[in-house]
Amino acid sequence: MSVDVLYSYFMNLPQFALTWGIFFGAGLVSFAIQLRRNRHVFSLREVFEHCVPFDPWRSKSFHMDVIIYIYRKFTDFIFAAPGFAIAGLLSIGVNTSLTALFGHLTPIPTTFAVAFLCTIVMFLAAEFADYVVHYLEHKVPALWELHKVHHSADFLNPLTSKRGHSLPILYGGAMAGVITGAVAGVLIYLFDISLPEALLLKAVASKIFTIWTLDPLKHSHIPVGLGWFDRVLISPHMHQVHHSKLQPHWDKNFGTNLSIYDWIFGTGYRPAKGEEVEFGIAGYSDATLQKFNTLRGAFINPIIRSWKAIQKRFRQKPTSISSPAIEGIDWTRQMVDPRED
Ligand SMILES: [Zn+2]
Ligand SMILES: [Zn+2]
Repeated sequence: MSVDVLYSYFMNLPQFALTWGIFFGAGLVSFAIQLRRNRHVFSLREVFEHCVPFDPWRSKSFHMDVIIYIYRKFTDFIFAAPGFAIAGLLSIGVNTSLTALFGHLTPIPTTFAVAFLCTIVMFLAAEFADYVVHYLEHKVPALWELHKVHHSADFLNPLTSKRGHSLPILYGGAMAGVITGAVAGVLIYLFDISLPEALLLKAVASKIFTIWTLDPLKHSHIPVGLGWFDRVLISPHMHQVHHSKLQPHWDKNFGTNLSIYDWIFGTGYRPAKGEEVEFGIAGYSDATLQKFNTLRGAFINPIIRSWKAIQKRFRQKPTSISSPAIEGIDWTRQMVDPRED
């Protein structure tokens, strides 16, 4: 099976239908379970209210999700472009360096096994890049100020997955470009595979895992776990924990699709069945969260606060090696007061 056939098979699955199909399908199933337990009367209105437990006409958080979703449809490619350029240049550089060091290899043909191996390797590399960036976004004050936009949603719905500032696409894409570009360079050296093919294989893997992890439910209130697979994958309930402002949930579950890096680096958290979460940012009142629901609040103010955080960092006196800041104890959350807006 060629890489192209694999790619076109999976990528032609309509994303829109997939996202909302999984979202409302799961909502319907969980409503049916409640119906059986509580013996309510079935009505379509109740099903909808079960799936969407906020007023879509009045929720400013949801309106902002929609605005950012549309804005990003037209602008993401601009911020993502440098990452692709880095991946391209680095893969060429690594391949050329390996050829100079070890000589030209007769590339191993792309059999199914080779394509499978390359898919796994590229996917692990991309997920690692995502993990590192997301971890830093929570630990580095200047990045946290930008990432907060994603966490400022007080209701989660599938559009919230795109709720975020544009700058993280730039630095996140650059980090992904560095890691996946270097890995792709090695694969190109060893196998008869090109960079576009390596990137396509990674995209196929992402799509498979999007379905397997029930990705559209990660930004929803439906707390679905994946059972044993929570040890390998980020379940919807695990990502909902990541959005929770309850203290035991802070800075947990940074993975996008895979939870393995969270378990390796000690940030994994598997919620108990039915464990409650509260969406928002710790220490922020509902009124403060609402300030993110304007264009200025979502795009301009985060840059200003991020800049202030950088200035504050460089103005700080050197801290002793045993200080909480060095030990990584939660010092990001007190850096810039949101009420300064
Ligand atoms: Zn986060
Ligand atoms: Zn999220």
